[in-house]
Amino acid sequence: MMEVKQFINGQWINAIGNGTIPLINPATEEVIGNISFGNGDDCNTAIDAASHAFKTWGKTTPYFRAGILKKAAQFIRDNVEELATDMVNESGKPITEAKGEFIVAANLFEWYAEEGKRAYGKTIPTNRIDKRSFTQWQAMGVIGVITAWNFPAYNPARAWAAALAAGCTVVAKPSEFTPMAGLHLAKALEASGLPPGVLNVLTGDAALIGEAMLNHPQLKKISFTGSTKVGKILMDGASKTSTKLSLELGGNAPVIIYNDVDVQAVAKAASLARFRNNGQVCIAPQRFYVQENIYNEFAEAVSKQVAQLKVGNGFEEGVQLGPLITSRQRDGVNELLKKATDEKAHILTGGKMPAHLKKGYFIQPAVVANCSAASVLAHNEIFGPVLPLFSFNNMEEVIARANDTPYGLASYVFTNNITTAFTTAEQLEFGMVGINEWTPHGTELPFGGWKQSGQGHESGSEGLYEYLQLKLVSIGGI
Ligand code: ADP
Repeated sequence: MMEVKQFINGQWINAIGNGTIPLINPATEEVIGNISFGNGDDCNTAIDAASHAFKTWGKTTPYFRAGILKKAAQFIRDNVEELATDMVNESGKPITEAKGEFIVAANLFEWYAEEGKRAYGKTIPTNRIDKRSFTQWQAMGVIGVITAWNFPAYNPARAWAAALAAGCTVVAKPSEFTPMAGLHLAKALEASGLPPGVLNVLTGDAALIGEAMLNHPQLKKISFTGSTKVGKILMDGASKTSTKLSLELGGNAPVIIYNDVDVQAVAKAASLARFRNNGQVCIAPQRFYVQENIYNEFAEAVSKQVAQLKVGNGFEEGVQLGPLITSRQRDGVNELLKKATDEKAHILTGGKMPAHLKKGYFIQPAVVANCSAASVLAHNEIFGPVLPLFSFNNMEEVIARANDTPYGLASYVFTNNITTAFTTAEQLEFGMVGINEWTPHGTELPFGGWKQSGQGHESGSEGLYEYLQLKLVSIGGI
């Protein structure tokens, strides 16, 4: 049984009130640890520590900060087996995905170590002979980072790496369902010489911690990854405190498949892409719009592939889908499936608890056909292993249906016609478009949502500037 403490001001400590909550393995439903459960007081202590640490950290060179971030990247790579094991236990995801995620976290640390050195300002020619003006970027100060459970290492790593490289200090709250990964990243940074207070990791009451972050005058910005619902709670609070926000919220990605593609190849790739991390991904391809004359062939091919996916404990050889994160999440997906069949949609494969599994929050991956434009599967973020199929006739119609959502994160287009590809991509109201690919993201690429999917960007150089503020310096009398 793991006893999980918070990391505040360089110390591993219990919550001030000594509260704990159980950590549950979603594949076995067993309690595997006790996590410290702090509140607003713990958060204020962490912000005070981060504020004190900023006085020194904010004055270090990006080269000094890069040294620590790169060492931490190496620490993660050297210990990836142990780190990934804990991630499988807390999140249920397959061990290969857990390892891959920590390697991406290491890559983010390394990439931002370098990018932090490139926060160039500019010299601006002015309209007066006696004046010289230039801009410079400065670290914002203390940053709150609240993250979701679906990528327990990647979500914190991309915000922490950018904020720390920029010279900010961080107070982080990973998800209560997956705190271990974030705490491992903290250990990597601690072992690499990060001074006390520069990074603090809280575990505890989300609403109280969020409120404390909003209300503390020294906390300058909250970077949030999670649901649109909680994003709106933070926007509400920030309207009173003027705390800046970066929000990476929900999505409901359309996948438009035109009739000139290799149907079998796209169906095979779709069966993997849709079910990565069990569909619990904000950019997960969700609404599959297939042109009507290839619809039946695609439906048959994708169902055949999906029926072969291996579901089980993430430690088992060859497992491609683990459990969903909680019983609540599983019940929510089952509820959507039930509503869809009530609407006369037809489940081609999956949608039940796999017969060989007796415990855990599992669902056999499902393909659902005959979904109407008004289907619950079109208008809700499923966040689970369900691939709904919709048929369409022409480009104009499918673009209107793809855009008919309050979300605007990722979207996907499959075609072999370059004009169709560009015309479609340009009309999609989404922050990211993958054309003939399923991974329109990367350490060096800006990740961000339009509409109700968020504001600001993570990763890429855009992600660094989320933690820097621009200052104009103007000198007269020259
Ligand atoms: P999900 O549905 O993906 O779990 P949530 O938005 O509920 O998304 O959770 C994302 C993160 O936000 C988690 O770390 C969670 O603890 C935190 N959170 C939940 N409620 C609040 C809140 N009221 N204020 C601040 N953070 C919150």
